[in-house]
Amino acid sequence: MIKGSCLCGKIKFKISGEPFSLSYCHCSRCRKAAGVFSAVLIGKADNLVVTEGQSEIAKFLPGSDGKFERCFCKHCGTSLGDMGTGDVYVIAASALDDDLAMRPTVHIHTDSKPNWYEIVDDLQKFGGDYIDEK
Ligand SMILES: [Zn+2]
Ligand SMILES: [Zn+2]
Repeated sequence: MIKGSCLCGKIKFKISGEPFSLSYCHCSRCRKAAGVFSAVLIGKADNLVVTEGQSEIAKFLPGSDGKFERCFCKHCGTSLGDMGTGDVYVIAASALDDDLAMRPTVHIHTDSKPNWYEIVDDLQKFGGDYIDEK
């Protein structure tokens, strides 16, 4: 069981089971909402349960591409990611309070990262910005 929460503590959630992946997302939405990039944890939607503060979650809805709403705390603004609108959750690993067994494996949407931020590890990189993807 992995626990997570927002900065002010009003929202708490837990994740059971093994997440599918952990990656660094550099898309323009993560850049704006999360701060440079977001460490994104993806797993089966049913495995994520909001245990406290469901009513405190505000949502920025997806664009015309219809992908990924962004949940955040109404009070402290903590970026939580998509807590499960489809079959998967795509949450901000930065909101986790426990360590993960897995480590990030890829950088995605790197074309949208700012030039002043340099990726210095050797993980595989995928360019683009998902806003342009169809
Ligand atoms: Zn909060
Ligand atoms: Zn992103």
